[in-house]
Amino acid sequence: MPAFISHLVCPRCGSRFDPHKAHNLCTACASPLLAEYDLEKVQSAVDKATLARRGESMWRYLELLPVVDPTHIVSFGEGFTPLLSIAALTRDWGLEAVWLKDDGLNPTGSFKARGASCGISKARELGIREVALPTAGNAGGAWACYGAAAGLRVHVAMPRDAPVINQLECRLYGADLVLVDGLISDAGKRIAQGVREHDWFDVSTLKEPYRIEGKKTLGLEIAEQLDWQLPDAILYPAGGGVGIIGIWRGLQQLKAIGWVTGELPRLIVVQAEGCAPLVKAFEEGRADSEFWPDARTFASGLRVPKALGDFLVLRAVRETGGTAVAVSDAQCGEMMKLLAGRTGIFAAPEGAATLAAAKILRERGDLTARDRVVLINTGSALKYPEAMGEALAMQ
Ligand SMILES: *Cc1c(COP(=O)(O)O)cnc(C)c1O
Repeated sequence: MPAFISHLVCPRCGSRFDPHKAHNLCTACASPLLAEYDLEKVQSAVDKATLARRGESMWRYLELLPVVDPTHIVSFGEGFTPLLSIAALTRDWGLEAVWLKDDGLNPTGSFKARGASCGISKARELGIREVALPTAGNAGGAWACYGAAAGLRVHVAMPRDAPVINQLECRLYGADLVLVDGLISDAGKRIAQGVREHDWFDVSTLKEPYRIEGKKTLGLEIAEQLDWQLPDAILYPAGGGVGIIGIWRGLQQLKAIGWVTGELPRLIVVQAEGCAPLVKAFEEGRADSEFWPDARTFASGLRVPKALGDFLVLRAVRETGGTAVAVSDAQCGEMMKLLAGRTGIFAAPEGAATLAAAKILRERGDLTARDRVVLINTGSALKYPEAMGEALAMQ
């Protein structure tokens, strides 16, 4: 079976690793590792016409994904979610061409399904039996789900005040769930302890290289669904920032194989005012972020006080000429209601944050009337009963 993945590389020190063995962080400098592919081989193995005939899931991009033997794939049809025009709504603010990528339609109700499908499939291929991760909410549910399907044991640690719905889904999927006082960073310490004491494979955000590969497919799909004409800007609600790094890598790979041309879209980070370490670092011109104390927002996926891949997110934003913006929970609630009432799209507060950001960036002049803009809705409102209530309580 042909392997298209060629090696893992450290983006900090350049060390290389064998992709057919299990790896976590770079053993030389503790940076996250990134997957590289033999792009010439990809180019000769598949073309756009072949792709167009394939099944409508993220696995249609198999040659740009790390799994070598497709029988290892664990899939519920995640990805290839609709790219919906919402120009009828945004035209009121002077934005003529805006689409929303509705990743709330994924299995488990969030785009975490992409990362979990890829990560669990590759873990199975590598012969791993038990995986462990901390989560702010949705990642736990997604990994528990795909782990159950693959017959892998999944250990999850979550803040005690993480959404109840995420706790319940982990339990129903049969994961081993512990609740921890504090934030996702504290849950991370608990997982690190478990990994040291047991034979668990650490699949924390960016501590294994394949979650990002799953999320990369968001970028591949946006390009394909816009008929290979890249948009001008993509707005992404960033917690750990995996999705935005993935989109950046995916679009670079499409460019390298000649499927898209021209400038990459401006990649724009959206965070919550109550937890905006990446926005702060961007505004201060720093290469990485500082721990954000007392992180608070009802958009639980954005409650990440310090991201391991912060330097990669900031690189992606700066190299593409993007920017970063923080929005309030009140604005997220307002946009949840507006999206639902005006377009019928039932977006998570994180996704609604990107709509609030688009309005702000249009007012600031960072987006112009003719810019072709894509917003990523990363989850379904169905997983946020508390946020739904707050959105309704708003005037
Ligand atoms: C996890 C999550 C995010 C943030 O994703 P990162 O890749 O960690 O930046 C945004 N929205 C939702 C709904 C999430 O579950």
